[in-house]
Amino acid sequence: MRQINLKDIVPDLEGRLKKLNTLRKVFMVLALLIIPAVPAMIVLAKYGACMQLCHAVQAVKLKGKMPIFMLFAFASNEREAAQKLIDTGNLAGYRIVGDVMIVRDDIAMTDEEAWEEAAPYFNAAAAINMGMTADNMPECYKKIIEIQQRKEKELAEGTAEYGQCPSCGAPVKSVDSEFCDKCGTRL
Ligand SMILES: [Zn+2]
Repeated sequence: MRQINLKDIVPDLEGRLKKLNTLRKVFMVLALLIIPAVPAMIVLAKYGACMQLCHAVQAVKLKGKMPIFMLFAFASNEREAAQKLIDTGNLAGYRIVGDVMIVRDDIAMTDEEAWEEAAPYFNAAAAINMGMTADNMPECYKKIIEIQQRKEKELAEGTAEYGQCPSCGAPVKSVDSEFCDKCGTRL
């Protein structure tokens, strides 16, 4: 299974990215003169890894919450990597909920809500492609698959709910409903 290199997660990733970018430029100039190929490749690899982590941090900050698997694509140590982003201060003021979502501290969320929110984004096929099996799959993904299966069943049976009527609170049973079945309010 793919692993995130936890050593890449250090405090102030943005600052590190800037330094690596400067170093990268220096090596690009040096490469024209003496071709220090191996150190240049190391710098480029570090720069790439650091940039990916910075993008992950930005994505989380933009939305305030994000399934961890969307950041680290089912890497086997993705929860550890997410926790380290928090612990190193890159995502200060965030926490992990239900083992699956990174959530800003001011946003309330229970474990069950985290699984519900992550379920539409969870792709079991992608997880399996990354080496996950029924045996090594984390509990939270089993919960999410249960939710997905429940929703599929509800769709098949026509009992799925698409929110509530803003007027009377009755469940809306179809994506295409224009009016509430119960009180007739336009939706
Ligand atoms: Zn209604």
